Amino acid sequence: MEIKDRILVVEDDKSIRNFLQTILEANHYEVLMANTGTEAYGLITSMCPDLVILDLGLPDMDGMKILYNVREWSNMPIIVVSARMYEKDKVEALDAGADDYITKPFGTSELLARVRTAIRHARSAGVNPGGGQIGSFSTGGLVIDYDKYRVYVDGQDAKLTQNEFRIIRLLAQYAGKVLTYDYIIKEIWGPNMNNDNRILRVNMANIRRKIEKNPGEPRYIFTEIGVGYRIVEPD
Ligand code: CA
Repeated sequence: MEIKDRILVVEDDKSIRNFLQTILEANHYEVLMANTGTEAYGLITSMCPDLVILDLGLPDMDGMKILYNVREWSNMPIIVVSARMYEKDKVEALDAGADDYITKPFGTSELLARVRTAIRHARSAGVNPGGGQIGSFSTGGLVIDYDKYRVYVDGQDAKLTQNEFRIIRLLAQYAGKVLTYDYIIKEIWGPNMNNDNRILRVNMANIRRKIEKNPGEPRYIFTEIGVGYRIVEPD
C-alpha cells in the first residue's frame, strides 16, 4: 500500500477548507481538518502531519500562536495561508519559522507547488542536516557550481563577486522558498549587520544584471515585494 503524505488543513472557512481537501486528496495526500486553533494543536501533537496549511485568522486564536508553539519543539513544514495583504505579516510569519506563505485567493498549481517544495525541504534537511551544498544547481540556462564557486549563464561565467555568489547559493539552498531580507542579511553579513536592505538591494541588482537577460523581467530570482527573494526551483 502506498504511504501518503498527511496534510493538516487549519481553516475555519468551510468553502476554502472543502476546496483544499478536494485538490489535496485528488493529488494523493491524506487530509486532516481542523476548524479552530485548539483542534489544530490537538491534531498536530497526536497525528504528526507531514505538513500543516495554517490559516492565520481562526475563531479562537491567532494562527501565529500555533506557529510559535509548534516551532518550540518541531520543524514540521508549515505553510501559512492568509487573507492579510500586509507585508509585515508575511515577514513575521516567515521569520517565526513558517516555511512559506500563500495569500488568498490562490490557484491550485501554486498551492501544490508550495506543498511539494516544503515537504521536500523538510526531508532533505533531515538527510543533510549541515545543509552543505555540493555539486551544482541548474535551472534553465543558469548553473551554480558549488565546488568552483562560480555561476554560469548559458555556459558563460557570470563573474559574480564572493558576496554575490554567497547570496545566490543561499537562495538556491532554499529554492522555491521565499527568504526574507532580514534572514539573507544576517546569513551573509552576520548578526551585527543592521537591517538596512540597501546593501542587499545593491548586491541583488548586480546579480540580476549579470545573470538575467532582462533584469526588469527576471527569470531566475523573483522579488516578493516588501518581503524578500525567491529563486526558481532547479530543473
Ligand atoms: Ca479564517
